[in-house]
Amino acid sequence: MSLSTRIAMSLCGVVLLYGALAMLIQKEVIAPGFVALEREEATEDMARVLAAIQREIDHLDTFCHDWSAWDDTCAYVRDKTEAFETANLTDSTFADYFLNLIYILNTQGEVVWGKIMDFKSHRVIEMEEFPTSRWAITHPLLQHSKAHDTLSGILVTHSGPMLIASRPIVNSESTSPIQGTLIMGRLLDDEGVRRIGDQALVGVKLTMIHEDAGPGRALASSAGARGQYEYKIKDAQTFQISSILADIYGQAGLQVEVSIKRDIMARGQELLRSSTLLIFASGLIALVVALILLRRSVVRPLLVLTGHVARVGKEEDFTALPLSPRRDEIGTLSHEFNRMVGRIQHHAGERSRAESALRESETRLRTIIATAPDGIITVSAEGHVESFNPAAERLFGYAEAEVLGRHISVLMPGNPSPDDSGIPASGAEGLGRRRDGSLFPLLWTFSETLLAGQPLITGMVRDISMLKEMHEKMLRSEHLAAIGEMGASMAHEIRNPLAGISGAVQVLRDGFTPEDARRETMDEVLTQVGRVEAIVRRLLLFAKPWAPRKERVDLRGLVERVSRQAQSRELYAGITFRQEGADALESMADSHLLEQVLWNILGNAADALRGREGGAEVVWTFEGDGDWARIRLKDNGVGIPASAQEQIFHPFFTTKTYGTGLGLLISRRILEAHGGSIGVSSVEHEGTEVTLELPKGL
Ligand code: ADP
Ligand code: MG
Repeated sequence: MSLSTRIAMSLCGVVLLYGALAMLIQKEVIAPGFVALEREEATEDMARVLAAIQREIDHLDTFCHDWSAWDDTCAYVRDKTEAFETANLTDSTFADYFLNLIYILNTQGEVVWGKIMDFKSHRVIEMEEFPTSRWAITHPLLQHSKAHDTLSGILVTHSGPMLIASRPIVNSESTSPIQGTLIMGRLLDDEGVRRIGDQALVGVKLTMIHEDAGPGRALASSAGARGQYEYKIKDAQTFQISSILADIYGQAGLQVEVSIKRDIMARGQELLRSSTLLIFASGLIALVVALILLRRSVVRPLLVLTGHVARVGKEEDFTALPLSPRRDEIGTLSHEFNRMVGRIQHHAGERSRAESALRESETRLRTIIATAPDGIITVSAEGHVESFNPAAERLFGYAEAEVLGRHISVLMPGNPSPDDSGIPASGAEGLGRRRDGSLFPLLWTFSETLLAGQPLITGMVRDISMLKEMHEKMLRSEHLAAIGEMGASMAHEIRNPLAGISGAVQVLRDGFTPEDARRETMDEVLTQVGRVEAIVRRLLLFAKPWAPRKERVDLRGLVERVSRQAQSRELYAGITFRQEGADALESMADSHLLEQVLWNILGNAADALRGREGGAEVVWTFEGDGDWARIRLKDNGVGIPASAQEQIFHPFFTTKTYGTGLGLLISRRILEAHGGSIGVSSVEHEGTEVTLELPKGL
């Protein structure tokens, strides 16, 4: 259930509860108040009615007294004078004073004058309650003992209730003895009852009670005795209050019923109804207003807040809350939320910075591993390969995926291991096996660490074949130097005796005639001595401790010059010379030593081409490659048998009758002294290519 529904429902509940409470209060407190009010009013009305009846009786009594205490009446009782009758006891007296009954009796109970009549129709009425000639002396109405005695009240007759007053007849000063009794009566007919009702401003109904119904209430003492009234709700419009009045004998004689219109109740009910309606209406208005206010001040900001929080959670949207600042809890909440989001954003920024730094360092590490010239292999404590970098891939010819999980001994077979893991000892030179099965010398070093509690062995593998080669080269040059030294001292020792021998043989030869056969022998000796001299010269050149004197050399020009000189010699007859490649190639070099090399390899090519029938050719090629200059010499001579290729650089190795076996060796020394190298590749019966490589050094 949403917050606004919940609030609306609670408010509805409150309004309903409030309405129910209001209705309960109306029913239990206000409505009974109206009932009491109605009773009070009825009681007052009744009191007014009773007072009106009493007033009627009092009037009648007063009028009766006016006549009874009068000298004329006294005289009439005594003498029955005609004049009194005609003057006073007329029909108009009845009509003027609303009288129905006038009786004048003497002290013996004899009726002196008596008449009952309807004063409107002037008809005489007979009533058995009032005898016409003589009354018993004990009649209650005749019991007067003093001049001021009076008996008045209500008398129930067969003709209806009657107001009655009885007074003793005395003189005007009320000093004479009682002469008789004067009785006056007024029937309470409909007209009379209406008159009473008009006085009391209510509707009155009188009912006589004939039977002996117990004591009625005395009229005189009636005022204020509320408890003896009977209240009755007759119908929706009428409320009734009734009281039983006593007659002059003290018996229940007359029931007085007062009906009042239930105006108060009707008004009250209407008031209650409209107030209930008003309560509900105002409750409804309050509800709507409260809803609108709550929606504006609480629900909507909360919805905005909730939506925003959800967005931050889902989309990492770090914008601030779109709520205007407020000084309540929602304001505090949104302020704190904004601060929290700010902090999260700050942390997120820091985290992403840290992550990118981490990524960068990871990339750097990967790059270092990927581009390291040495093979880097990590293995588990048991010797299983866990990673294998590109240099290791190149070295062993395996892709990383092929060796992961395999044992290191597959890559490095037969190397002594200090423990039973099969991992070769660190820092040891050993043998590596490539994917194709070929072996190569390597150096294996490793370090052991703990990574996340697991032992990690990181090994570095270096191919040391180059190192070995360099080492061999060094040994060789030391060897050559020793040979050179020996050769030099030998040559030195041999040179002078040789010169002597040569001179002596020359003298001997010149002593023979040209025809002499010994002269030819001497010539042969001289040729052989010349050869020895050549060997000695070479040996001396080889052994001479020299350093190249470098200058800028036009390599192509140098080669062209040597080629031109060669072509003019007998030795190179029948050989075609060609030049290919770069037009200009220069380098810093010792041109004299370099020329020596060129003559050496050109001489070897000419030897290889000797005896060939046509098509003999040598090709010079020039290549400039960055810092290096290369000169190749290719011939299509006899070539070098595979078995001899190993040995051609060994000192004194020669396949020629008059060869010295030092040419290639000297050439190599010269090039190495320049920081360069010489290489020979050859196929037997097809030809040989010699490559000279020199650093340009410009
Ligand atoms: P020499 O020329 O005195 O024999 P080198 O050192 O110059 O000594 O050469 C050694 C050997 O290498 C030669 O005897 C020859 O067998 C072989 N050789 C060198 N150059 C060539 C070539 N261009 N063609 C065939 N064989 C060659
Ligand atoms: Mg040679």
